[in-house]
Amino acid sequence: MIIQIQPSLTAADKEIIISKVKSLDYKTTEVKTQHGNYIVAIGKKEFDIRQLGHLKGIIDVHRVSDDYKLVSRKWKISRTKIDLGHNVIIGDGSLSIMAGPCSIETEDQIQKTVDHLVKNNVKIMRGGVFKPRSSPYAFRGLGIEGLKMWYKLARQAGIKIVSEVMQVSQIGEMYDYIDIYQVGARNTQNFNLLDELGRVDRAVMIKRGISGTIEELLYSAEYVFAAGNEKLMLCERGIRTYERASRNTLDVNAIPILKEKTHLPVIVDPSHGIGIRQYVEPIALAAVMAGADGIIYETHQKPEEAASDGQQTLDFEESSVLIDRLRKTFALKNSF
Ligand code: PEP
Ligand code: MN
Repeated sequence: MIIQIQPSLTAADKEIIISKVKSLDYKTTEVKTQHGNYIVAIGKKEFDIRQLGHLKGIIDVHRVSDDYKLVSRKWKISRTKIDLGHNVIIGDGSLSIMAGPCSIETEDQIQKTVDHLVKNNVKIMRGGVFKPRSSPYAFRGLGIEGLKMWYKLARQAGIKIVSEVMQVSQIGEMYDYIDIYQVGARNTQNFNLLDELGRVDRAVMIKRGISGTIEELLYSAEYVFAAGNEKLMLCERGIRTYERASRNTLDVNAIPILKEKTHLPVIVDPSHGIGIRQYVEPIALAAVMAGADGIIYETHQKPEEAASDGQQTLDFEESSVLIDRLRKTFALKNSF
């Protein structure tokens, strides 16, 4: 059950609500986000909801049968929209495109990518400065200095930044230079990181775990929301299956399922989802048809020279074609 309460409620009035809920055998957690104040109540006992409805300061009481509550679609009629400023909004019914290299490498690479995005009217650039790599000897990113350099060039061009945060200590370091914190597939269940991301007022995109279920992804999002941050989106990026013909198996099924289960925007990453450059486009278009709110993919001026993930990275020509086809596919879908 989710009880929405008035932010102006006095501590004494809030206490009256909480004691009443507890007397019904429900455990309570208070949640205060950028957008609202809630009491999440967990319990099983059936009772007449009117017992609560009349208490002072209650805006609404919603019963949510799902085990995750705040991210469930069951209580929130309007879908979550995330406003990044300057008219860049995710989840407002438009298709968000986020593109850029796997790793941020050099000033020249950043500038070329920014120019490519500006030319194609793409407003969000991806790129890693803290890279989770399977081998400790692989390129692990330029770190915070790389992010600062990127921020300068991106801001001049009006481009927003999405980049992976790997650990709690990086949240504060990155804060001034980032628009969306990406939680990578290897960190989907890093609950300390999720908790801390709930305490910042910045958008968060949580990728699905490498072998994670849809439900686990929703629980991970619940952590962030419950700690106070509603500016949340999910990302399907492929899961590990028995299939070895592709790097991962992009779970197209997850897209409509997530859209049904949650009010959060659903972004799809076809680059990691299939891991093979020439198949990124068809998978990206399939994701749009399946209802994705956005696509995030890898592009580089010279994919064969990329410091990481070159095999799944589009060059700028391929990227321009993809952007055009994404938009056409999205328009076609909306015409049905
Ligand atoms: C990435 O986006 O470059 C990345 C490492 O993604 P994932 O966490 O999905 O593997
Ligand atoms: Mn990558």
